[in-house]
This record gives sequence, C-alpha cells and structure tokens, in this order.
Amino acid sequence: MTFSFDLLGTDGAARAGTLHTAHGDVPTPTFMAVGTAGTVKAMTADAVRSTGAKIVLGNTYHLMLRPTAERVARLGGLHKMMDWPGPILTDSGGFQVMSLAKLRKMTEDGVTFRSHIDGTAYHLTPERSMEIQHLLDSTITMVLDECTKFPATHDEAAASMRMSTRWAKRSRDAFIPREGYGQFGIVQGSVYEDLRKESAAALRELDFEGYAIGGLAVGEGQESMFAMLDITAPLLPTQKPRYLMGVGTPDDLLGSVARGVDMFDCVMPTRAGRTARAFTSHGVFNLRNARFIDDGRPLDESCSCLCCTRHTRAYLHHLIRAEEILGPMLLTTHNLTYYQSLMQGARAAILENRYAAYCEKTRAGWEDAKNG
Ligand SMILES: [Zn+2]
Repeated sequence: MTFSFDLLGTDGAARAGTLHTAHGDVPTPTFMAVGTAGTVKAMTADAVRSTGAKIVLGNTYHLMLRPTAERVARLGGLHKMMDWPGPILTDSGGFQVMSLAKLRKMTEDGVTFRSHIDGTAYHLTPERSMEIQHLLDSTITMVLDECTKFPATHDEAAASMRMSTRWAKRSRDAFIPREGYGQFGIVQGSVYEDLRKESAAALRELDFEGYAIGGLAVGEGQESMFAMLDITAPLLPTQKPRYLMGVGTPDDLLGSVARGVDMFDCVMPTRAGRTARAFTSHGVFNLRNARFIDDGRPLDESCSCLCCTRHTRAYLHHLIRAEEILGPMLLTTHNLTYYQSLMQGARAAILENRYAAYCEKTRAGWEDAKNG
C-alpha cells in the first residue's frame, strides 16, 4: 500500500478525500484524537474506535521521556503497545519542548532541554526526532520545526521560519521511507503572507507526502487564522493532504474545512470531557451546572454514542458532582463522537455540494445552547 491521497470531491475550497496508509484508510476531512502518552486519556482503544476515529495522534515529547522510544520499539511499536493497529501520526516533539520542558536552549543544531518530569537533559535535533518517530513506528512523521511565538515581528517570524525550513530539509534527509508511511512538512510564517508563501514554496521543493499548517491557533484569533488559511491552503499541492495543527473548536473545524483543510488534531474534546464540558448539536454544555440535576434527557438526542444512547444528563451531572471517573470517560466518548460526526457530516455534504448549507444548519443548532 503506497501512502497516497485521493481527492474525491470539492465544494468551493472544501475537500473530501481518502488517505491511504500502511495501517488503513482515513476518510477526510478527519479529526485525530490526541493520544498524548500512548493513550487517549480516559479511553480504551475500543472506546476510541467506537467514536468513529480512524487515526490518532501520539506525542514524541511525552513518549521519548517515558517510556522512551527505544522501549516502545522493543514492545513492538506504538500501534501494538496501545492496541491501535490503525494509522498514527506523531508530532515532532518541538512544540511540547517549547511549552512543557525546562531550561530550553535553541541552536541551529537543535534544542537542548530538561524533562519536566525529572530534570534529565535531552538534545533533540531534526535527525533524532525522525529516529524517535521511526522507533515509535509512526504512520505519519512530522518534521521538527520551531512553532513561531505569537506575536512575533516580521524579522523574528522570518528568522524562525527559515530555520524551520533548514530543519525540514534535514528532517527529509533523515526520514527512512517505508511503503505506506509518510512525512509531512510544516508551513510557518506567523501572520505574514510573504513568509507563508516563502515557507510553502521551500517545502514543496522537498516533496513531502503531506503538508501541515503550523503556528496558528496560538492566540491570533479565529478571524486572523482563517485569513492565513485563505492565503496558505492554495499554496499547497492539491493532491496531498493538508493538516491544520492544534485546531480547534467545532466552529474552527467547519471554517477551516471550508478553506481546504483535510486533517485536524486538538486536545479540546478530550480535555473538555475531563472538565464536565460537552460539545453537542445544541452547543456547549457544562454538566456541572445545577440545571441538569433532574434532566432525564440524553446529552444529545441526535448522537449515537454510548453516553447518549444509554445515559441521561442527570446521571452525567451526578457522576461529575460525585467525582466518579465514569463521568470523564462518558463525556470524552461523547465529545470525540461528536467531533467525528461533525467531520463525517462535512464529508457527506462536500460530496453532495451542500457544504455551506451544512455549516449553516450546524451553527444554527449551536445557538440552542441557552434553551437546550
Ligand atoms: Zn453522544
């Protein structure tokens, strides 16, 4: 199985396709559940599958510290270790080094840092990040880049993006090709159109199997993010998948799909599930709220997940108030199912050329939250 992407239909800039990988096919647009440390938090692998998820994400930073990439390899790779035979995308570790690790020092060679767990020193280079992701047996390897801070001046963003471009070249050279496996480059350039263009052009030269758009959803706001997508997405090859990193809310997803994005990941649905919040067709609910104490209705009557077909809002409210672990488990199941349903609905709508109407109807439903 060659790693490839079939573009099956478009509606405006929105795209529906299928990603083919060594570990199975992924219908797009798709949302990747975040499996930080070899687990999607609060979920068994079967529970993740039950949400309709086809691909999950693993974090290089967490796994390289514990249990270590070499140990994951000895255990048969990440797929085997976490009972997920399907596709796995791993990030490069760079983003979390910058957000979690201590005493970071960035040079042209790479980044030196101390583990947030026990203070051990590490040196992460593009070559080492590719080696780690290879040991993890990642279906989709991400290049090591520097996620440009926000806000950044044009000069700062340019210097950061150009170093990321040099690292992308080193990452490409260090990547070990395998049948059905791929590597994605990451477009940077902050909110500057000329830098986004320069980055995309340089990465296209390296002919990656897919392209990510990085450095967004870092505080610039939805309007600015969409403006950058309007500029960046058309710079990317039509026949390759496009991944918007770290995004976002259901509304962010709909708007980004409309601008030509195929893949997403975000901790939002899982993290919200652990903090009593539910994404539903009627908007966002906080199940801790007293108004649910006697509410015998399903969380979301239009959802077919285990949480919504078997339990009531009142029970979820009780579980949250009693701090029972089943509460976060059920809400995570629901939230991930909701995100998958949103993407499945988008895909069907794009293939039938009714994507704008689908977005309008979905957004109208979210307005119900106050009444829900
Ligand atoms: Zn549900």
